[in-house]
Amino acid sequence: MSSEFIPVNTPLFGKVEENYVLDCIRTGWISSEGEYVNRFESGVARALGRTYGIAVANGSVAIDVAIAALGIGPGDEVIMPTFTIISCASAIVRAGAIPVLVDSDPHTWNMDTNQIESRITAKTRAIMVVHIYGLPVDMSPVQEIAEKFGLFIIEDAAEMIGQTYKGKQCGSFGQISTLSFYPNKHITTGEGGMVLVDNDSLSERCKSLRNLCFKANPRFVHDELGWNFRMTNLQAAVGVAQLERLDETVARKREIGDLYNNLLCDIGGIQLPLPNTDYAKNIYWVYGIVIKAEYGELLASDIMSKLAKNRVGTRPFFWPMHEQPVFQKLGLFKGETYPVAEYIARKGFYLPSGVALTQSQIESVSKAMHEVFS
Ligand SMILES: *Cc1c(COP(=O)(O)O)cnc(C)c1O
Repeated sequence: MSSEFIPVNTPLFGKVEENYVLDCIRTGWISSEGEYVNRFESGVARALGRTYGIAVANGSVAIDVAIAALGIGPGDEVIMPTFTIISCASAIVRAGAIPVLVDSDPHTWNMDTNQIESRITAKTRAIMVVHIYGLPVDMSPVQEIAEKFGLFIIEDAAEMIGQTYKGKQCGSFGQISTLSFYPNKHITTGEGGMVLVDNDSLSERCKSLRNLCFKANPRFVHDELGWNFRMTNLQAAVGVAQLERLDETVARKREIGDLYNNLLCDIGGIQLPLPNTDYAKNIYWVYGIVIKAEYGELLASDIMSKLAKNRVGTRPFFWPMHEQPVFQKLGLFKGETYPVAEYIARKGFYLPSGVALTQSQIESVSKAMHEVFS
Protein backbone atom coordinates (compact mmCIF):
# COMPACT_ATOMS: atom_id res chain seq x y z
CA MET A 1 0.00 0.00 0.00
CA SER A 2 1.54 3.29 -1.02
CA SER A 3 0.48 6.49 0.65
CA GLU A 4 1.60 10.08 0.23
CA PHE A 5 4.90 11.12 1.78
CA ILE A 6 4.37 13.53 4.68
CA PRO A 7 7.08 16.20 4.52
CA VAL A 8 8.58 17.58 7.71
CA ASN A 9 7.29 21.05 6.82
CA THR A 10 4.63 22.51 4.54
CA PRO A 11 4.04 26.27 4.57
CA LEU A 12 0.61 27.80 4.11
CA PHE A 13 -0.17 30.64 1.67
CA GLY A 14 -3.39 32.25 0.55
CA LYS A 15 -4.85 34.87 -1.76
CA VAL A 16 -3.41 37.74 0.26
CA GLU A 17 0.18 36.56 -0.33
CA GLU A 18 -0.59 36.20 -4.06
CA ASN A 19 -2.14 39.65 -4.31
CA TYR A 20 0.70 41.44 -2.55
CA VAL A 21 3.36 39.71 -4.66
CA LEU A 22 1.43 40.51 -7.84
CA ASP A 23 1.25 44.11 -6.68
CA CYS A 24 5.07 44.25 -6.57
CA ILE A 25 5.37 42.79 -10.04
CA ARG A 26 2.65 45.00 -11.54
CA THR A 27 4.10 48.16 -10.05
CA GLY A 28 7.71 47.16 -10.76
CA TRP A 29 8.81 47.55 -7.13
CA ILE A 30 10.76 44.33 -6.67
CA SER A 31 14.07 45.32 -5.04
CA SER A 32 14.58 46.36 -1.44
CA GLU A 33 13.28 49.80 -2.44
CA GLY A 34 9.60 49.26 -1.91
CA GLU A 35 6.79 49.99 0.47
CA TYR A 36 6.27 46.39 1.58
CA VAL A 37 9.72 46.36 3.20
CA ASN A 38 8.78 49.33 5.41
CA ARG A 39 5.34 47.88 6.13
CA PHE A 40 6.83 44.53 7.07
CA GLU A 41 9.49 46.07 9.30
CA SER A 42 7.10 48.30 11.20
CA GLY A 43 4.41 45.59 11.35
CA VAL A 44 6.72 42.99 12.88
CA ALA A 45 8.26 45.54 15.24
CA ARG A 46 4.80 46.61 16.43
CA ALA A 47 3.59 43.01 16.84
CA LEU A 48 6.62 42.12 18.96
CA GLY A 49 6.72 45.33 20.99
CA ARG A 50 9.91 46.76 19.48
CA THR A 51 10.69 50.25 18.16
CA TYR A 52 12.61 49.20 15.03
CA GLY A 53 12.71 46.21 12.72
CA ILE A 54 15.48 45.97 10.12
CA ALA A 55 14.67 43.37 7.46
CA VAL A 56 17.60 41.32 6.17
CA ALA A 57 18.25 38.45 3.78
CA ASN A 58 17.91 35.62 6.32
CA GLY A 59 18.03 34.76 10.01
CA SER A 60 21.70 33.80 9.94
CA VAL A 61 22.93 37.14 8.65
CA ALA A 62 20.63 38.86 11.15
CA ILE A 63 22.95 37.41 13.82
CA ASP A 64 26.03 38.65 11.93
CA VAL A 65 24.51 42.14 11.93
CA ALA A 66 23.69 41.87 15.65
CA ILE A 67 27.25 40.93 16.58
CA ALA A 68 28.77 43.63 14.37
CA ALA A 69 26.34 46.33 15.51
CA LEU A 70 27.21 45.69 19.16
CA GLY A 71 30.90 46.01 18.29
CA ILE A 72 31.73 42.48 19.44
CA GLY A 73 35.10 41.42 18.02
CA PRO A 74 38.56 40.01 18.73
CA GLY A 75 39.22 39.40 22.42
CA ASP A 76 35.52 39.26 23.29
CA GLU A 77 33.55 36.28 24.55
CA VAL A 78 29.86 35.52 24.06
CA ILE A 79 28.06 32.93 26.17
CA MET A 80 25.65 30.78 24.15
CA PRO A 81 24.07 27.31 24.14
CA THR A 82 26.04 24.47 22.55
CA PHE A 83 22.71 23.03 21.34
CA THR A 84 21.65 25.37 18.52
CA ILE A 85 22.08 26.09 14.81
CA ILE A 86 25.59 26.90 13.62
CA SER A 87 24.56 30.43 12.58
CA CYS A 88 24.77 31.53 16.24
CA ALA A 89 28.38 30.41 16.69
CA SER A 90 29.58 31.25 13.18
CA ALA A 91 28.58 34.90 13.60
CA ILE A 92 30.69 35.10 16.78
CA VAL A 93 33.67 33.26 15.28
CA ARG A 94 33.64 35.27 12.03
CA ALA A 95 33.74 38.45 14.09
CA GLY A 96 36.93 37.16 15.73
CA ALA A 97 35.26 36.61 19.11
CA ILE A 98 34.99 33.37 21.10
CA PRO A 99 31.76 31.45 21.73
CA VAL A 100 31.63 30.16 25.32
CA LEU A 101 29.16 27.33 25.69
CA VAL A 102 26.61 26.09 28.19
CA ASP A 103 24.69 22.79 28.18
CA SER A 104 20.95 22.29 27.71
CA ASP A 105 18.16 21.74 30.17
CA PRO A 106 16.99 18.14 29.65
CA HIS A 107 13.28 19.04 29.90
CA THR A 108 13.00 22.14 27.69
CA TRP A 109 16.17 21.58 25.56
CA ASN A 110 16.94 25.28 26.07
CA MET A 111 20.20 26.58 27.50
CA ASP A 112 20.62 25.73 31.18
CA THR A 113 20.62 29.21 32.67
CA ASN A 114 22.21 27.88 35.90
CA GLN A 115 25.46 27.38 33.99
CA ILE A 116 25.78 30.93 32.65
CA GLU A 117 27.30 32.74 35.61
CA SER A 118 30.23 30.31 36.03
CA ARG A 119 31.21 30.92 32.37
CA ILE A 120 31.59 34.69 32.77
CA THR A 121 35.13 36.12 32.52
CA ALA A 122 36.56 39.62 32.18
CA LYS A 123 36.20 39.19 28.40
CA THR A 124 32.48 38.33 28.36
CA ARG A 125 30.47 40.91 26.43
CA ALA A 126 27.12 39.25 25.78
CA ILE A 127 24.80 36.35 26.45
CA MET A 128 23.21 34.97 23.30
CA VAL A 129 19.95 33.26 24.15
CA VAL A 130 18.34 30.98 21.59
CA HIS A 131 14.78 29.83 22.13
CA ILE A 132 14.68 26.19 21.01
CA TYR A 133 11.82 24.27 19.36
CA GLY A 134 8.78 25.62 21.23
CA LEU A 135 9.50 26.88 24.72
CA PRO A 136 11.38 30.10 25.47
CA VAL A 137 14.60 30.27 27.46
CA ASP A 138 13.95 31.11 31.13
CA MET A 139 14.70 34.82 30.68
CA SER A 140 14.43 36.19 34.25
CA PRO A 141 17.73 34.67 35.47
CA VAL A 142 19.43 35.68 32.20
CA GLN A 143 18.24 39.27 32.62
CA GLU A 144 19.46 39.35 36.23
CA ILE A 145 22.91 38.05 35.28
CA ALA A 146 23.18 40.41 32.30
CA GLU A 147 22.32 43.37 34.50
CA LYS A 148 24.65 42.32 37.32
CA PHE A 149 27.65 41.90 35.00
CA GLY A 150 26.81 44.61 32.43
CA LEU A 151 26.38 42.23 29.50
CA PHE A 152 24.34 42.59 26.32
CA ILE A 153 21.55 40.12 25.64
CA ILE A 154 21.37 38.96 22.03
CA GLU A 155 18.13 37.05 21.51
CA ASP A 156 17.72 34.61 18.64
CA ALA A 157 13.93 34.35 18.45
CA ALA A 158 13.86 32.68 15.00
CA GLU A 159 11.79 29.76 16.25
CA MET A 160 9.60 31.70 18.64
CA ILE A 161 7.71 34.29 16.55
CA GLY A 162 4.36 34.72 18.34
CA GLN A 163 5.52 33.02 21.57
CA THR A 164 5.61 34.89 24.89
CA TYR A 165 7.66 34.59 28.08
CA LYS A 166 5.64 35.54 31.17
CA GLY A 167 3.25 37.30 28.81
CA LYS A 168 5.92 39.38 27.02
CA GLN A 169 6.72 38.76 23.35
CA CYS A 170 9.77 36.70 22.47
CA GLY A 171 11.89 38.94 20.27
CA SER A 172 11.57 41.77 22.80
CA PHE A 173 14.21 40.61 25.28
CA GLY A 174 17.52 41.46 23.61
CA GLN A 175 19.34 44.77 23.13
CA ILE A 176 19.23 43.12 19.71
CA SER A 177 16.86 40.30 18.86
CA THR A 178 16.83 38.38 15.59
CA LEU A 179 14.21 36.51 13.57
CA SER A 180 14.21 34.16 10.59
CA PHE A 181 11.51 33.87 7.96
CA TYR A 182 12.63 30.55 6.47
CA PRO A 183 9.62 28.44 5.29
CA ASN A 184 9.45 26.44 8.53
CA LYS A 185 9.19 29.58 10.71
CA HIS A 186 5.87 31.07 11.88
CA ILE A 187 6.15 33.84 9.32
CA THR A 188 7.90 33.00 6.06
CA THR A 189 9.21 35.09 3.19
CA GLY A 190 11.00 32.15 1.52
CA GLU A 191 14.34 33.39 2.77
CA GLY A 192 14.43 36.34 5.13
CA GLY A 193 15.25 37.63 8.55
CA MET A 194 14.96 40.66 10.80
CA VAL A 195 16.93 42.48 13.45
CA LEU A 196 14.85 44.08 16.23
CA VAL A 197 16.08 46.96 18.40
CA ASP A 198 14.71 49.89 20.43
CA ASN A 199 17.75 52.14 20.42
CA ASP A 200 17.93 54.81 17.64
CA SER A 201 21.66 54.66 17.02
CA LEU A 202 21.74 50.86 17.12
CA SER A 203 18.96 50.85 14.54
CA GLU A 204 20.94 53.22 12.28
CA ARG A 205 23.99 51.00 12.68
CA CYS A 206 22.09 47.85 11.71
CA LYS A 207 20.59 49.60 8.67
CA SER A 208 24.01 50.77 7.59
CA LEU A 209 25.63 47.34 8.05
CA ARG A 210 22.82 45.75 6.03
CA ASN A 211 23.40 48.17 3.17
CA LEU A 212 27.19 48.10 2.57
CA CYS A 213 27.64 51.07 4.95
CA PHE A 214 26.66 53.45 2.16
CA LYS A 215 26.48 57.06 3.26
CA ALA A 216 24.00 59.56 1.91
CA ASN A 217 26.83 61.76 0.71
CA PRO A 218 29.31 61.19 -0.87
CA ARG A 219 27.50 58.11 -2.14
CA PHE A 220 30.36 55.77 -3.00
CA VAL A 221 32.78 56.64 -0.21
CA HIS A 222 32.75 54.22 2.72
CA ASP A 223 34.10 54.62 6.26
CA GLU A 224 33.29 51.03 7.25
CA LEU A 225 32.64 47.61 5.75
CA GLY A 226 29.10 46.34 5.65
CA TRP A 227 27.25 43.72 3.64
CA ASN A 228 24.43 43.59 1.13
CA PHE A 229 21.96 41.78 3.37
CA ARG A 230 18.87 43.61 2.05
CA MET A 231 15.45 41.95 1.81
CA THR A 232 13.49 42.38 -1.43
CA ASN A 233 10.06 43.99 -1.66
CA LEU A 234 8.79 40.69 -3.17
CA GLN A 235 9.79 38.83 -0.02
CA ALA A 236 8.43 41.53 2.28
CA ALA A 237 5.10 41.40 0.40
CA VAL A 238 4.77 37.73 1.36
CA GLY A 239 5.82 38.65 4.89
CA VAL A 240 3.16 41.34 5.29
CA ALA A 241 0.49 38.80 4.30
CA GLN A 242 1.97 36.17 6.60
CA LEU A 243 2.03 38.62 9.51
CA GLU A 244 -1.71 39.16 9.04
CA ARG A 245 -2.27 35.46 9.76
CA LEU A 246 0.25 35.09 12.61
CA ASP A 247 -2.38 34.56 15.33
CA GLU A 248 -4.00 31.76 13.33
CA THR A 249 -0.60 30.21 12.65
CA VAL A 250 0.30 30.19 16.32
CA ALA A 251 -3.08 28.74 17.29
CA ARG A 252 -2.74 26.00 14.66
CA LYS A 253 0.81 25.13 15.80
CA ARG A 254 -0.48 24.66 19.34
CA GLU A 255 -3.36 22.50 18.05
CA ILE A 256 -0.94 20.31 16.12
CA GLY A 257 1.21 19.93 19.25
CA ASP A 258 -1.80 19.04 21.40
CA LEU A 259 -2.97 16.46 18.84
CA TYR A 260 0.44 14.79 18.80
CA ASN A 261 0.57 14.85 22.61
CA ASN A 262 -2.74 13.01 22.81
CA LEU A 263 -1.89 10.50 20.09
CA LEU A 264 1.68 9.69 21.18
CA CYS A 265 1.48 9.77 24.99
CA ASP A 266 0.88 5.99 25.19
CA ILE A 267 4.22 5.15 23.51
CA GLY A 268 6.65 4.18 26.26
CA GLY A 269 10.31 5.12 26.37
CA ILE A 270 10.11 8.43 24.54
CA GLN A 271 10.17 11.99 25.84
CA LEU A 272 7.58 14.30 24.27
CA PRO A 273 7.77 18.11 24.38
CA LEU A 274 6.62 19.69 27.65
CA PRO A 275 3.15 21.23 27.02
CA ASN A 276 4.07 24.14 29.30
CA THR A 277 6.38 25.57 31.88
CA ASP A 278 5.42 28.10 34.53
CA TYR A 279 6.39 30.90 32.11
CA ALA A 280 5.07 29.76 28.72
CA LYS A 281 2.75 27.46 26.81
CA ASN A 282 4.58 25.42 24.17
CA ILE A 283 4.21 26.83 20.64
CA TYR A 284 5.62 23.61 19.04
CA TRP A 285 7.73 25.29 16.36
CA VAL A 286 8.74 21.70 15.76
CA TYR A 287 7.42 18.62 17.52
CA GLY A 288 10.54 17.06 19.03
CA ILE A 289 10.94 13.52 20.40
CA VAL A 290 13.84 12.19 22.48
CA ILE A 291 14.40 8.43 22.85
CA LYS A 292 14.88 7.59 26.53
CA ALA A 293 17.85 5.64 27.92
CA GLU A 294 15.76 2.46 28.37
CA TYR A 295 16.13 1.85 24.62
CA GLY A 296 19.88 1.32 25.08
CA GLU A 297 21.90 1.96 21.92
CA LEU A 298 18.92 2.89 19.73
CA LEU A 299 19.63 6.16 17.92
CA ALA A 300 17.30 8.79 16.47
CA SER A 301 18.73 7.97 13.03
CA ASP A 302 17.51 4.33 13.36
CA ILE A 303 13.97 5.51 14.05
CA MET A 304 14.12 8.21 11.40
CA SER A 305 15.00 5.75 8.64
CA LYS A 306 12.14 3.47 9.72
CA LEU A 307 9.74 6.41 9.70
CA ALA A 308 10.99 7.35 6.21
CA LYS A 309 10.03 3.84 5.03
CA ASN A 310 6.59 4.58 6.48
CA ARG A 311 6.50 7.75 4.33
CA VAL A 312 7.04 10.13 7.25
CA GLY A 313 9.60 12.94 6.94
CA THR A 314 11.69 13.84 9.99
CA ARG A 315 14.78 15.90 10.87
CA PRO A 316 17.47 15.19 13.42
CA PHE A 317 18.01 17.53 16.36
CA PHE A 318 20.82 20.11 16.22
CA TRP A 319 24.40 18.84 16.50
CA PRO A 320 26.21 20.58 19.39
CA MET A 321 28.68 23.35 18.61
CA HIS A 322 31.50 21.73 20.63
CA GLU A 323 31.24 18.62 18.43
CA GLN A 324 31.43 20.51 15.12
CA PRO A 325 34.46 19.50 13.04
CA VAL A 326 34.81 23.06 11.73
CA PHE A 327 35.27 24.46 15.25
CA GLN A 328 37.50 21.58 16.41
CA LYS A 329 39.79 22.37 13.46
CA LEU A 330 39.98 25.94 14.77
CA GLY A 331 41.03 24.61 18.16
CA LEU A 332 37.81 25.68 19.88
CA PHE A 333 36.09 23.80 22.75
CA LYS A 334 39.03 21.38 23.33
CA GLY A 335 38.12 18.66 25.84
CA GLU A 336 34.74 20.24 26.62
CA THR A 337 31.73 17.97 27.15
CA TYR A 338 28.06 18.88 27.52
CA PRO A 339 26.27 15.61 28.29
CA VAL A 340 22.65 16.74 27.85
CA ALA A 341 23.28 18.28 24.42
CA GLU A 342 25.32 15.23 23.37
CA TYR A 343 22.47 12.94 24.44
CA ILE A 344 19.60 14.80 22.77
CA ALA A 345 21.64 15.32 19.58
CA ARG A 346 21.94 11.53 19.21
CA LYS A 347 18.50 10.56 20.51
CA GLY A 348 16.35 13.44 19.30
CA PHE A 349 14.43 14.07 16.07
CA TYR A 350 11.32 15.94 15.07
CA LEU A 351 8.13 14.98 13.31
CA PRO A 352 6.22 16.78 10.53
CA SER A 353 5.18 20.05 12.19
CA GLY A 354 4.30 22.47 9.37
CA VAL A 355 1.29 24.71 9.71
CA ALA A 356 -0.43 23.12 6.67
CA LEU A 357 -0.33 19.64 8.24
CA THR A 358 -3.81 18.02 8.17
CA GLN A 359 -5.62 15.98 10.81
CA SER A 360 -5.32 12.81 8.71
CA GLN A 361 -1.59 13.39 8.18
CA ILE A 362 -1.13 13.75 11.94
CA GLU A 363 -2.99 10.47 12.42
CA SER A 364 -0.78 8.77 9.80
CA VAL A 365 2.35 10.02 11.57
CA SER A 366 1.02 8.70 14.87
CA LYS A 367 0.26 5.30 13.29
CA ALA A 368 3.81 5.12 11.89
CA MET A 369 5.27 6.10 15.28
CA HIS A 370 3.29 3.33 17.01
CA GLU A 371 4.47 0.77 14.43
CA VAL A 372 8.10 1.82 14.68
CA PHE A 373 8.15 1.76 18.48
CA SER A 374 6.13 -1.47 18.91
C1 LIG B 1 16.19 29.05 11.38
C2 LIG B 1 17.10 29.52 12.42
C3 LIG B 1 18.14 30.42 12.17
C4 LIG B 1 18.63 30.76 10.80
O1 LIG B 1 17.75 31.30 9.97
P1 LIG B 1 17.96 31.28 8.38
O2 LIG B 1 16.93 32.23 7.91
O3 LIG B 1 17.72 29.88 7.92
O4 LIG B 1 19.35 31.73 8.10
C5 LIG B 1 18.84 30.95 13.24
N1 LIG B 1 18.58 30.55 14.49
C6 LIG B 1 17.64 29.66 14.78
C7 LIG B 1 17.41 29.28 16.19
C8 LIG B 1 16.88 29.09 13.76
O5 LIG B 1 15.94 28.17 14.05
